[in-house]
Amino acid sequence: MIERRRLTVQGTVQGVGFRPFVYRLATDLGTGGWIVNSSQGVVIEVEASTPTLDTFVARLQGELPPHASICDFNIQTIPLQGDHGFYIHHSNSNGVKSALILPDLAACPDCLRDISDPTNRRYRYPFTNCTNCGPRFSIILALPYDRPNTTMRGFTMCADCQAEYENPLNRRFHAQPNACPKCGPHLTLWDRSGRVMETRDGALQAAGDALRSGSIVAVKGLGGFHLMVDARNSDAVAMLRTRKGRYEKPLAVMFPSLEQVKDNCEINAAEQRLLTSSEAPIVLLRYRGGDIAPEVAPGNPYMGALLPYTPLHHLLLNDLGFPVVATSGNLSGEPICTDEIESLAKLGKIADLFLVHDRPIARHVDDSVVCVAMGEVLTLRRARGYAPLPIDIPADKQSYIAVGAHQKNTTALLHNKHSFISQHLGDMESIETFDVFKQTLADFQNLYESTPSTIICDLHPDYVTTQYAEQSGLPVLRVQHHYAHVLSCMAEHQLKHPVLGIAWDGTGYGTDGTIWGSEFLLVEDQDFTRVAHLRPFPLPGGDTASREPRRSLLGLLYAMYGDDLPRQRLQFAPHELNLLLVALKKGINTPLTSSMGRLFDAVAALAGLQQQCSFEGQTAMALEYATLRSDTDECYPYKITPITNTHHADRGIIEWKPILAAILNESNPALISAKFHNTLAMIVVEVAQQVGIPQVALTGGCFQNRVLLERCITGLRAAGFTPYWQQHIPPNDGGIALGQIAAALREGSDVFSSSGQAD
Ligand code: ZN
Ligand code: ZN
Ligand code: FE
Repeated sequence: MIERRRLTVQGTVQGVGFRPFVYRLATDLGTGGWIVNSSQGVVIEVEASTPTLDTFVARLQGELPPHASICDFNIQTIPLQGDHGFYIHHSNSNGVKSALILPDLAACPDCLRDISDPTNRRYRYPFTNCTNCGPRFSIILALPYDRPNTTMRGFTMCADCQAEYENPLNRRFHAQPNACPKCGPHLTLWDRSGRVMETRDGALQAAGDALRSGSIVAVKGLGGFHLMVDARNSDAVAMLRTRKGRYEKPLAVMFPSLEQVKDNCEINAAEQRLLTSSEAPIVLLRYRGGDIAPEVAPGNPYMGALLPYTPLHHLLLNDLGFPVVATSGNLSGEPICTDEIESLAKLGKIADLFLVHDRPIARHVDDSVVCVAMGEVLTLRRARGYAPLPIDIPADKQSYIAVGAHQKNTTALLHNKHSFISQHLGDMESIETFDVFKQTLADFQNLYESTPSTIICDLHPDYVTTQYAEQSGLPVLRVQHHYAHVLSCMAEHQLKHPVLGIAWDGTGYGTDGTIWGSEFLLVEDQDFTRVAHLRPFPLPGGDTASREPRRSLLGLLYAMYGDDLPRQRLQFAPHELNLLLVALKKGINTPLTSSMGRLFDAVAALAGLQQQCSFEGQTAMALEYATLRSDTDECYPYKITPITNTHHADRGIIEWKPILAAILNESNPALISAKFHNTLAMIVVEVAQQVGIPQVALTGGCFQNRVLLERCITGLRAAGFTPYWQQHIPPNDGGIALGQIAAALREGSDVFSSSGQAD
C-alpha cells in the first residue's frame, strides 16, 4: 500500500546537515516528496509503500548527523500526491518561530584538512566551514537560518561555492556561511590608527611575526575580539596586564595542540573530551609547570586552557607553534568588542596591532569556561558553543522573559516550551554591559517573534535588571535570589519537589530585606521555606566588604568579642579600624548578612591568605587552592540549633562562633582551609539529616568551588541522600535567569491555582 506522511521535526535540525541527510536517505529508499526548513523546524513529506516509510522514519531517527538532535517529532498521514523524486524546497518563514538556533561549532577535521592541503582551493583560508562546523549563533540575524538571514548576506558565492551549496551530496550543501578565498571574507592587519599594514595571508603571517616578537595583537575571532600575546613571554604578558589594568585575574591560554596542553597541564579523560569537543570551551586544568610565564595566572595552581576553534585560530597557532594568552578583547567591566572600528577606539591603548576581517559579528559571544567536578562538566560561564541551546522544562505555550540577576548576567526567554538562555553578558556595572543586556532581551524576542506575557526579575530593588523589569510595562514577577538558584538546579535536572535546596553565594536579597547567602530552602508544592542559614553578622561597609575580606572578618570578630576583639588579627591601619568600629557600634552602613561567601572571605583573611581582592571569587579560590596542600579529614566544632518544624519559623541557625574561635588558635593556611571545607560538608549533611528530604540540590556561586562541591556530594551520598548540582547551567548568577523562568512556571501551574495556599 502506498502512503504519504508529513513529518514535523523540531530540535537542532537546521545548519547541521540535516536536510542533505534526509535527502540522501529519501533518495536511497526511492521515496517521493520534499523537505523544507520552516520557522517551526523542518517539515518533510514522504510518499512510498508503508514498509519503506517505516524504514525511513526509523533510519531518520537512528542515523542523525553528528550535531543534529530531535526534541519533538510529529507524524501525520495525509492524502497522496503522487510526486516522483525528492526535493529540497526553499525555506519558508511564516508561522510561530520555534526552530532551534545552533551555537557556533569548532572547525571540523574535514575543514582542517582542506585548509592544510596546498592543492585545495581553501588552502590557508581562515573562513572555511561546512554543515558540520563553523559560525551559527554569532552570524544569525533572523530565523529561519538561511544565508540572507546571516551576516554572510553581503558575500555572493562564486560559482564553485554555489555548486557545493546546491549539491545535496556535498558537505557544504546549504552551509550558510560557505565561502572561499575567491568570494568570502578576508583578513586585514591594521596598526593602531586603522592603517592597513597587510592583507589576506600576509596579514596572518605578519600578526604571527608580531606575536613572536612580544607584541600584543587584537584578533577578531568568532564572537568577538581576543587580546593575544606570547604566553611564554613574561615581559609581554606583564605589559598586557598593565595596559589592560588587569593585575591578578588569571588569563586564558590558547595552545596550538592537545600535546602542548599535556606538556603543561594535567588532564583527565573528561577534561580532554571537553577541550577537543566542538563546543571547544576554556577548560580549567591543573597546571603542572611548563613554559607558561608566571604572570599568566599568578599563584594559581590551575590554568584556563583552550584549543584553536576556528580555521583562523588554527592557522595562526600552527604558524606560531607556541601557546598564546587569549583573553577577552574588552575594557575592564565592558562586553567584548565585536566591531573592528569600535575595537580601535576601545583597545587602541592596549593592542599594538589589529588582525581583523570583514565578516560582521551579529552578537558578542564570549568563550565558555568549564571545569570537571565529580567526573562531570561544571559550567562556570556559558556562552560560545552552548548558547543559545534551550533547557526544556515542562511548560505550555506561555511566553516569559527573565532578566537574571546583577553579576554574570544572562537573560532567558520561555517560548514554545523552550527556555532559551542567553550567552553570558557580564556584570551589570557599566552602561555598555547594560546596553548589551537590553539588546539581548530584544534580540531573543525578535529572533523568535515572541511577545512575553510576564517579565521576571530578582527581588533586589536596586539591581538595574529589576528596575528595567519594572519599567518594561509588562506584569512583573519578583523571585527571591536563592529560590531562583535552587529552581535553576531543579530545572536542569527536571527534579520534582520536595527538594532541599542549598544555595550558597555572596549576596542575595532576602524576603526579610536582609542579605542572604547561606540558604537551606525546602522547596515544596508551590513555594519554599527557609529552613536553615548561618547566624547573621554585620558587614562593615556593605558591598565594599566583597572586595575586602578583612571587613567580613572584622564584622564576625566584632559580633563575637565586641570591643575586645583580637586587633592583631585584623590587617587595618589603626585609624581605619577605629572608624569601622564606630560604624559597627552605631550600626552605620553595617547591614546584617548570612552570606556564606563572606564567611569564606573572613576565614581567608584569618588564615592570612587574602586581605583585599581585585576580582570576584579571588578569596574563595585562594581558600579552595590552599586545601590542595593538606589531606586532613579533621573538622572544626560547630553548632546548629535544631530544626524542630520546617513549616514554622523555628529555623536552624548555624553558629560560626566555635569555628572562628578554633581558627584563631591555628596558623597553617592549608590546614585551616581543609578543616573549614570539611566542616561545611558536615554541616550540609547534618542539616539534610534534620530536614530528611532525599533530594538535595547544591547551587550558588560557592559551589563553583570544586573541593566544597565534591566534599558535600560525597558526604551526602554516604548519608543516603541523592545530591544534584548544576553542570550545564552555571551555579553562579549566570543560572538565575533559568530559575526565574522555572519560578514563573510554578506560580502559573495548576497546583498553584487549585490549592491556592501560597503565602
Ligand atoms: Zn567543517
Ligand atoms: Zn567561493
Ligand atoms: Fe547568587
